[in-house]
Amino acid sequence: MGKQTRERQLKLEARIVKLKSREKELRISKDRIVARFERTCQLLKRLNQLREEQCELLKEKFRLTLHLQVESEVQSRVQSKLQQVMTLQQQIMVKAAQQDHAKENVAGNQDCVSSSKDVVDKMQRMEIELRCGICSELMVSATTLNCMHTFCQYCVTQWKNFEKNRAPIVGCPVCRDTITSERRNFSMDNIIGIIVDCYSEDEKNNRKELMKQHQELTRNLLTGERQPNTSNPFYQITNRNVFIGEMRVEEMPSLPRINLQNVTRRRSLTSITSRPATVRRLQQGSVRPRWR
Ligand SMILES: [Zn+2]
Ligand SMILES: [Zn+2]
Repeated sequence: MGKQTRERQLKLEARIVKLKSREKELRISKDRIVARFERTCQLLKRLNQLREEQCELLKEKFRLTLHLQVESEVQSRVQSKLQQVMTLQQQIMVKAAQQDHAKENVAGNQDCVSSSKDVVDKMQRMEIELRCGICSELMVSATTLNCMHTFCQYCVTQWKNFEKNRAPIVGCPVCRDTITSERRNFSMDNIIGIIVDCYSEDEKNNRKELMKQHQELTRNLLTGERQPNTSNPFYQITNRNVFIGEMRVEEMPSLPRINLQNVTRRRSLTSITSRPATVRRLQQGSVRPRWR
């Protein structure tokens, strides 16, 4: 009996030892599980934090995307405005170039106008220089005396005839040098021809008429008609005055030697003013040569 109890006691003790060992194992296992649980809890907590951070990042990304979109729209608007500005700049440059071109044209035209005025002025001065000192018209059949003064051939011939009636020595009507020789001046005829080419048709016809009159009068001189009369505008007698061209000789009727101080220009004789000298018409502005 005691032996059985003893065996039973031993078995119980062995079982207790086993149970204690098992308890110890279980306690260790429990500690591990608790530690693992705590670890898991920490991981879950960390996971939650990460999710929250992810959420924040997504929000931030969304905000950035929106911002980028707005920025892109603004940029495209800015690009469009820049394009417009560039187009306007190009238009302004084109306009400026056109204005420069127009200014250059205006300046060129002004130069042209002033140079053509200059040419007209010089032509007028030259025309005045080429007028006969006796009849004041552009010379017809220019004839140069030994003193180098030049007149129409008819005018100077008429002057010489007139002078011969009163004095043995005939002088130049301008400088009074004795006339010893005379020559036709064809160069001057050509220059006068060039000037007349610039005239209007009316002026050219007047010039032709004048040349025809000179030819007829020269022919009359050669055939002996040498006295002044009322129909000859270049050698005319009216009341007590005798005119050679536009020069008036006041002594009449004995026709003494002409005192050149008494030789004056007539201005109001009807027969002449009805065919006024071109220079007077130019001065009055009623006639404009073609080159104007
Ligand atoms: Zn003349
Ligand atoms: Zn002279």
